[in-house]
Amino acid sequence: MAVKKVVTYGHPVLRKVSSDITDFSNIDSLIQDLFDTMYEFDGIGLASNQIGIDKRIFVVDISHMEESDEESNKPLVFINGRVDNTVGSDVDSEGCLSLPEIRINVERYESIRYKYLDRDLNKHSTNFSGLLARIIQHENDHLDGKLITDYATPADLLKHGKALELMRAENTK
Ligand SMILES: [Zn+2]
Repeated sequence: MAVKKVVTYGHPVLRKVSSDITDFSNIDSLIQDLFDTMYEFDGIGLASNQIGIDKRIFVVDISHMEESDEESNKPLVFINGRVDNTVGSDVDSEGCLSLPEIRINVERYESIRYKYLDRDLNKHSTNFSGLLARIIQHENDHLDGKLITDYATPADLLKHGKALELMRAENTK
């Protein structure tokens, strides 16, 4: 069990395309680190490269949120996931533990089918909608080296440019 440092905007690992996990021998401690770190910083989702490990895994927990239903009312682990099918679109504001204080409107699919392995390495192909679909797309973006700033409008960049520049400088010195 360990709370890890969350890397911030400008760190090169956030731009790496994460690789599938093929060696599952240390998966339990990685999952525990992801949950410990996510809870420590009050996140609702955390991808592995946000703690510096470019492997295709992320965790989600919205059990304390209003939108949570029985199905999503537990901590979730997604390993080697891929978006398989998409329906509709929806715009909402998103934050990110790697971009503290910044919120950006992001257009996402309204619902998706996601293929992944759970923490027991059982295969799933599951439909998600609403907040869970949004978080999964956000975390899956991390695994593909994408960030919410990639969806920023010129107005967003004007508003957040200074903060982004400071983070980038911090990560390149
Ligand atoms: Zn994020």
